[in-house]
Amino acid sequence: MRWHLFDSHCHVDMPAFDKDRQSVIDRAFDAQIAFINSGTDLRSNCVTQDLLQYENVYAAYGLSPLHLDEKTLVDEFIRQNADSAIAIGEVGLDFYHAKEEPQRAQQEDAFRGFIRLSQELSLPLVIHSRDAEERVFKLVHRVDQAVYHCYGGSAELLNAIADCGHYISIPTRVCQSPHHQKLVEGAPPEVVIIETDSPYQAARRGRNEPALVADAVVAISRIWEMTFDDTASILVENTYRAFNLA
Ligand SMILES: [Zn+2]
Repeated sequence: MRWHLFDSHCHVDMPAFDKDRQSVIDRAFDAQIAFINSGTDLRSNCVTQDLLQYENVYAAYGLSPLHLDEKTLVDEFIRQNADSAIAIGEVGLDFYHAKEEPQRAQQEDAFRGFIRLSQELSLPLVIHSRDAEERVFKLVHRVDQAVYHCYGGSAELLNAIADCGHYISIPTRVCQSPHHQKLVEGAPPEVVIIETDSPYQAARRGRNEPALVADAVVAISRIWEMTFDDTASILVENTYRAFNLA
């Protein structure tokens, strides 16, 4: 069975879902929507692993560049639990929050470690990149499999990423963001996947959730001038390929 839609990146482990996590997951399941929950520190990787009890949940284990003090612990967690993950991430560089070069070098050092780990474990890399797209590209362009989560860089770089056989994940924000709409317009359709980044990046008021990934499909189907179903099936196929899902 193929899922009807795939939210390639979200954080249903977060406290924003503590009150109704079960209904959020059920709402996605009832619409045949699967999602990849991305860990950002040791706690969220552990909760992500717990969420694997649900059929429509897949796990990516990672470490936000803002939580590098947990590097050793998370590294160990990933090695021990790699069998239950379909990707390493999110990992990457966040230069919006790190303005000084020593901090940036420290992030880069950790990122290199995770790149090596993903190669060693033959798992795709899910990249977090904020104000650091060019530097990230230099580090990962030779990697076998990579997804740029919530891609917001330039159209030129997007084409270079596509040439590497890597994927870009477009957030539900595409509904309002002219920049993301332009990116979708110029992108080769075979490298585009979608995400909510729940609880963030809502296209509507309030909290985002995996079931709302359909909002991105509506926006992209208008740009591609295709039906909702044809657009959805391209995006889902791309996601299966990006993450080696059968
Ligand atoms: Zn995220």
